[in-house]
Amino acid sequence: MRGTVVQSTGNFYDVLMADDSIIVCRLKGKFRLENKKQTNPIAVGDFVMIEKDEQNNYSIYEILPRNNYIVRSDIHKKEYKHVIASNVDQAVVIASLRQPRTAFGFIDRVLLTSEVYGIPAKVIFNKHDLYKEKDDALLQELIFSYNDAGYESFSTSVLNKENLEQLHAVFENKTTLIIGLSGVGKSSLVNSIFPHLNLKIGAISAYSEKGLHTTTFAHMYRINEHSFIIDTPGIKEFGLVDIDAYEVGHYFPEIRKEMHNCKFNDCVHINEAGCAIKQLLEEGKFSPTRYTSYITFFEEIKAAKKW
Ligand code: GDP
Ligand code: ZN
Repeated sequence: MRGTVVQSTGNFYDVLMADDSIIVCRLKGKFRLENKKQTNPIAVGDFVMIEKDEQNNYSIYEILPRNNYIVRSDIHKKEYKHVIASNVDQAVVIASLRQPRTAFGFIDRVLLTSEVYGIPAKVIFNKHDLYKEKDDALLQELIFSYNDAGYESFSTSVLNKENLEQLHAVFENKTTLIIGLSGVGKSSLVNSIFPHLNLKIGAISAYSEKGLHTTTFAHMYRINEHSFIIDTPGIKEFGLVDIDAYEVGHYFPEIRKEMHNCKFNDCVHINEAGCAIKQLLEEGKFSPTRYTSYITFFEEIKAAKKW
């Protein structure tokens, strides 16, 4: 029988079957030995084959090939790599400029990772009702630059029911990975457009404040026959993916599409003469926050690899 892994808690896997039932499965021992660098042999979203033994216990005996997957590395322990989810159509970052404010670096780390794994991404700024006047200019700038880079972006408010229909359309007929810090309103947003899911609001943020090492268990929810969301509670930070510093620019779409105009082929867009990116930045045609993220990631990777 074929099913989809909707939750993994270490030893047990909840597998969603075609008839909408969920079967709790163990994993056949052989899988635990493979892929030692990844902490989890099976991820939420995996399509698997399961069978029942004489004692009526179910186990997963085969993992079907993944269309894609996305990995998060721990910011402190680079060797620790966790497959957050597989077989997704898109990643949606839920951010906020207030209560709590999401660092631009967090958003851009998620976008860089999605880009490396070939997963389309979108950015939603929630809690718009809480933004002050001066936040709004920044919000418009951010939305403009993310859209321009190819990441659909808009603001929402659960309180004022702002743009909830637009958000609803984002999830239709797709498997979506939702990423955001605790408290930005992931559960509230999902509940407001899909009330039948009834996700717990506020519970997760209070819980994850207790300790730094809260384990993240992603969970996949079925919205309807062709739409699924994967919620990732408790993500606090996002390590950079394992790429070389000179590759970072290739994974910023707005740099990628302009870099052929740089004077030097190996331009890294920092101090080089004739750099098209720096030129655009000076003309106000390149987002300063995105440029800051680019430089930060470049330097961080360079320092880690000790060039
Ligand atoms: P999660 O941790 O990302 O799932 O966030 P929750 O959905 O649990 O929301 C955290 C808190 O923010 C709750 O108290 C929500 O009621 C509140 N909240 C969520 N969305 C909004 C919003 O658009 N505006 C305001 N003012 N509060 C919100
Ligand atoms: Zn350049």
